[in-house]
Amino acid sequence: MIPSPLPPDFIPFNRPCLAGPELEYIRQAVAAGKLSGNGLFTRRCQQFFEQHYGMAKALLTTSGTDALEMAALLLDIQPGDEVIVPSYTFTSTANAFVLRGARIVFADSRPDHPNLDVTQLEALITPRTRAIVPVHYGGQPCDMPALLALARRHTLWVVEDAAQAIEARFEGRPLGTFGHLAAFSFHETKNLSAGEGGLLAVNDPALAARAEIIWEKGTNRAAFARGEAARYEWVDVGSSFLPSELNAAYLWAQLESRHRIQQQRQHLWETYQSALAPLAAAGFFGLLPPVAGSQPNWHLFALLCRSEAERDALLAFLRQRHILAVFHYLPLHRSPYYAPRHDGRQLPHAERFGQTLVRLPLYHDLSRIGQQRVISTVQDFYLG
Ligand SMILES: *Cc1c(COP(=O)(O)O)cnc(C)c1O
Repeated sequence: MIPSPLPPDFIPFNRPCLAGPELEYIRQAVAAGKLSGNGLFTRRCQQFFEQHYGMAKALLTTSGTDALEMAALLLDIQPGDEVIVPSYTFTSTANAFVLRGARIVFADSRPDHPNLDVTQLEALITPRTRAIVPVHYGGQPCDMPALLALARRHTLWVVEDAAQAIEARFEGRPLGTFGHLAAFSFHETKNLSAGEGGLLAVNDPALAARAEIIWEKGTNRAAFARGEAARYEWVDVGSSFLPSELNAAYLWAQLESRHRIQQQRQHLWETYQSALAPLAAAGFFGLLPPVAGSQPNWHLFALLCRSEAERDALLAFLRQRHILAVFHYLPLHRSPYYAPRHDGRQLPHAERFGQTLVRLPLYHDLSRIGQQRVISTVQDFYLG
């Protein structure tokens, strides 16, 4: 457990980032007299994503989870449809489709990386398969060229879970612009944050108009506001997916500050990498391999321990010294909810990452001294 109250030298796993202008923009949103969704700051953010990343349509949502749920509605996922999802991910990746009655077919991770193993996907496709949902773990790209070719051959939708992938690229192209749809998260643990928030990227223009209707509770309100519809009325299913202008104002400040935020993260990441590479080379733990052709976004720094017991001992050792490092996903095919529904296949790589992966503290204002303490504590654990 986290000691409570926190000791003064406690290093948390994450701290929400205040880049600077957030409170001023929130003040401006209040002064503008419109706090509900789709106001000035929402539209600024959305235009930024459309222009800067080349998305056909960008819709802010209240969370990455909501963006995934919108995707499942938009693709008309029906009971009995099958959706292929990596087991090593957050619940929302699968749960968004389970809410529509889909059966989740879990894919294993690559042997060397938590991302799903695209070479193993074809065997999972059946006549009921409708979509594949790759997760770019830690902002590192899945093999999208191969995955998109496979999806085209079988006429499947591709929804990227790009929750952790803002500002990451593959061969120059932003992650989240490869699939028909993509979900981003602006939860406070992600690189850019709105407290809670998300984005649905609509990359297939044929889906854009209906996406906006689903976003606006099944109404044509957005088109009506632009003068494109004669009446404001209920035209389809939908829900309330819009964040308030307060969240959009916070996010806008983060988008403006993104280069500085990313530089800080890159510096921290590279400091961990150079300090810990010798221990990795000596075989004490593994590091995630870089993906060829990728521009990383420095979302997380992970160690791959040699065993679950050693992983747990490392976390406890850090905690005793007032440092909170954390494991990551317990594979979803082994979860209390889905295990009885899973088809029984073993997914050894997802399980191994669930047992051995550790994330070290990495946040924008982690001090040099604080980071050195994390590094020397890891060194003490192994070399002690
Ligand atoms: C954070 C995250 C989500 C959920 O995003 P929220 O904004 O917290 O709803 C979904 N998938 C992955 C891979 C994530 O990391």
